[in-house]
Amino acid sequence: MSDLRHLKGQVKGLMAKCDEGYRCEVCGENVEAITESDLYLRYVIGQVDPETLHTAAERHIRCNPAVAQFIVDDAFSPVSTTGDFDKRNLDRSYVMDQENLITRGWLRLCELDDSDTPIIEYPLPEVRAKMQLRYP
Ligand SMILES: [Zn+2]
Repeated sequence: MSDLRHLKGQVKGLMAKCDEGYRCEVCGENVEAITESDLYLRYVIGQVDPETLHTAAERHIRCNPAVAQFIVDDAFSPVSTTGDFDKRNLDRSYVMDQENLITRGWLRLCELDDSDTPIIEYPLPEVRAKMQLRYP
């Protein structure tokens, strides 16, 4: 079930769904742009598998502060969270790794916005390299 042809069929289905827009499961508003999409952010950084991309719930990046707090860029207004997932309460080196990865993921979404890159090529280079091992 994980051969590339099968995956490409699913990706086509996904594109069709995108045209109708996805609703955020947190606030109920449409997720209008890829740069607002928590699902695509987690896909480009390797936390969502291509097979589950079309069935996983969509959210705005800002509606998932546990992840959004790690985006550190002038173009992104900072998000903070409280409690156990607050990055101020987490291990400093873990936080630095997450900030590096998730900020790169978000910048990748900015690059992809309005591009015609195939979905299979969205992820960051190291994530794509891992995917190629799994979908030879
Ligand atoms: Zn939302």
